[in-house]
Amino acid sequence: MTRMIIVRRVADLRAHVSGWRGRGESVGLVPTMGALHDGHLSLVRRAKDDNVRAVATIFVNPTQFGPNEDLSAYPRDEAGDAAKLESVGCDLLFAPDVSEMYPAGFATSVSVAGITDHLDGIARPGHFGGVATIVAKLLLQALPDRAYFGEKDYQQLQVIKRLARDLDMPVEICGVPTVREADGLALSSRNRYLSAAERQIAGLLPRALAEAAQLLADGRAAAPLLTDIEGRLIAAGFGSVDYIALCDGMSLEPLAAARPGSRIFAAARIGRTRLIDNWPVL
Ligand code: AMP
Repeated sequence: MTRMIIVRRVADLRAHVSGWRGRGESVGLVPTMGALHDGHLSLVRRAKDDNVRAVATIFVNPTQFGPNEDLSAYPRDEAGDAAKLESVGCDLLFAPDVSEMYPAGFATSVSVAGITDHLDGIARPGHFGGVATIVAKLLLQALPDRAYFGEKDYQQLQVIKRLARDLDMPVEICGVPTVREADGLALSSRNRYLSAAERQIAGLLPRALAEAAQLLADGRAAAPLLTDIEGRLIAAGFGSVDYIALCDGMSLEPLAAARPGSRIFAAARIGRTRLIDNWPVL
């Protein structure tokens, strides 16, 4: 196995990627915030299957965290992450520090309208502005052939598809299915915050979404069903539900009943951990 290259400067990332592409080798990019698990690694495997080269990035992006969110506590383990990336054949890791990504005087932001008027766009004000800005930067820094994002963060995937299309970025944005634990819980770097008891409760979220998706596909009206599910999550031990909604899978607009392309989305808290998930309906 050839050793993975680690770089921290945009100029070095560019030199490697443009060198590969100049030799006719396609490049797939996988942006992450680290604390890697099998969900992230499935994106890297896809990048490596579809392209000659796979590049991962690790950057805990301060501008996508709200003032009361877990930026300072966000798990970091670069050495462990690098070993995992190397084990799945990643060619290069770009791990810049904050000053490389936001040099003094940084004043530009990218904002995507419409899609961000719903769900996490409301629950986490400013979040998608931070995401859109950093992903636009990473795509322009690396200039890969393709970039990979998880369906776990489905609204984020739609925001990134929109921005790449709107800004004419010469990159194909690829969505990758959510990797789940045996009980259905979506893998997430934040799952490590859950106590054993909370972890048990967390498995109810995907089960409730799957069950609701089936009933919605059978033609049930969304509002009473979603209220009922919210009540069940709270009764089972979730502290609060930020939202549970049936939405169009492209525009993210709320829907009263299922139609082709619709999905159910939820964000709920257990203790200090916020979980999000989504499930296809029709
Ligand atoms: P994060 O490090 O949480 O910002 O995630 C980096 C990328 O991995 C994003 O595109 C996520 O959607 C994706 N991802 C996170 N968890 C999963 C999962 N369980 N299955 C598939 N992709 C995931």
